[in-house]
Amino acid sequence: MVEIKKGEIYEIEITGLNHEGQGVGKIEGFVVFVDNALPGELVEVEIEKITRSYAVGSLKRIAKASLQRIEPFCPVFERCGGCSIQHMSYEEQLRFKTDIVIQNIRRIAKLEDITVHPTIGMKNAFNYRNKAQFPVGMSGKEPVIGFYAMRTHNIIDSPVCGIQDAMSNKVREIVRMYIKEYGISVYEEQKHKGLLRHVMTRTGFKTKEVMVVLVINGRDIPHRKELIKILTSEIPEVKSIMLNINTQKSNIILGSESICIFGSSTITDYIGKFRFEISPLSFFQVNPVQTEVLYGKALEYSRLTGNETVFDLYCGIGTISLFLSQKAKKVYGVEVVSEAVRDARRNAAMNGVDNVEFVEGEAEKVIPDMYRYGIKADVVVVDPPRKGCDEALLDTLVSMRPERIVYVSCKPSTLARDLRYLADRGYMPVEVQPVDMFPWTMHTESVARIERVKG
Ligand code: SAH
Repeated sequence: MVEIKKGEIYEIEITGLNHEGQGVGKIEGFVVFVDNALPGELVEVEIEKITRSYAVGSLKRIAKASLQRIEPFCPVFERCGGCSIQHMSYEEQLRFKTDIVIQNIRRIAKLEDITVHPTIGMKNAFNYRNKAQFPVGMSGKEPVIGFYAMRTHNIIDSPVCGIQDAMSNKVREIVRMYIKEYGISVYEEQKHKGLLRHVMTRTGFKTKEVMVVLVINGRDIPHRKELIKILTSEIPEVKSIMLNINTQKSNIILGSESICIFGSSTITDYIGKFRFEISPLSFFQVNPVQTEVLYGKALEYSRLTGNETVFDLYCGIGTISLFLSQKAKKVYGVEVVSEAVRDARRNAAMNGVDNVEFVEGEAEKVIPDMYRYGIKADVVVVDPPRKGCDEALLDTLVSMRPERIVYVSCKPSTLARDLRYLADRGYMPVEVQPVDMFPWTMHTESVARIERVKG
């Protein structure tokens, strides 16, 4: 085996991407990760770091470029920690995400007879996010409002972000002017001093309503009136301006208290026909266009006829529950965060939906209890966080014998693990549909239909 040296240049072939979007290649069998390199490329890299199991190299020259390589649309792509695969064509990203799902199912679930459909992408993969959180800092005398750089807390500024809603870029420019004009102090993380920490925007894609949240280390801002005036005259869509109080020395972005200084303390948006009220703290899917596609698939895969009792586990603010309620007799949503449960109840009431009920608690504890009380589901939908489902939950579901399970997943490897577990207990995955919720990043979302094996 060759000895790999720091600072040396090597030519390697890139054969895959890791979960951060780095190209993966090998030097005599030893794994090397390279930012900004694509599968199929022959590249020269300078080794920057060596650990026991892998090395990290920086891209020096592309000797043979991939046909799927494109020019990143953002000038700060290589430094910003937001996107990771802007140098890959969108069609290739979709193919790639489908392949990630297929590979995980083969390797981890070791299942062959599943149809993995091609990833459903966006018609327009730009400006898809409805929520932006910009950290604020200073670079010399100039305010910087942007994004944390890859793997650090340095702030990268750029006038526009191509994946955020366009309004957020406008808000950012106004706040930048406000800081300069009135000498507003900005927060310094190290010293825990200064006022303005983050600028957050939330936009209703269907209603066009915009909320601006200034996260501050204090309880008020100077020249409030002037800021409100310029924000609302430049952007008439601004329906809510909030101060969020965060005086903690921590890197959690939002504090628990918000004060409304203009308009309403919530904005409204719709997913499908359902209306939601969004406050600074409430959870709401960040890509509303694809959320509708994903939930539509979950509803289709649940194959409801109107007579079923359905569980929506890990239900958040009850978005999927409301979708399912259209075709079910009764839906029970289960969620561990109490604010989310409160929002879920309010959302159901606001939409006049009376066949859903929300239970607060951990799915793996609540469901065994409900089952003991004789409450059973005909169809179960789960949408767990990245770590997937708890075995105690899956065991109870298996004993309950629902017709089918619909699994919405944000992480292919834990999906594959849970599919294997269920397959060994009489529930066979039949088809999986990946839906691209996060273009230009490696995030891979998918929904699986799992049927009880008859007999
Ligand atoms: N289905 C929702 C939210 C999915 S995110 C939507 O589409 O909007 C996953 C949710 O699971 C989060 O709201 C999180 O708070 C919740 N959660 C995490 N662990 C849980 C557990 N053990 N039991 C119930 N809910 C849990």
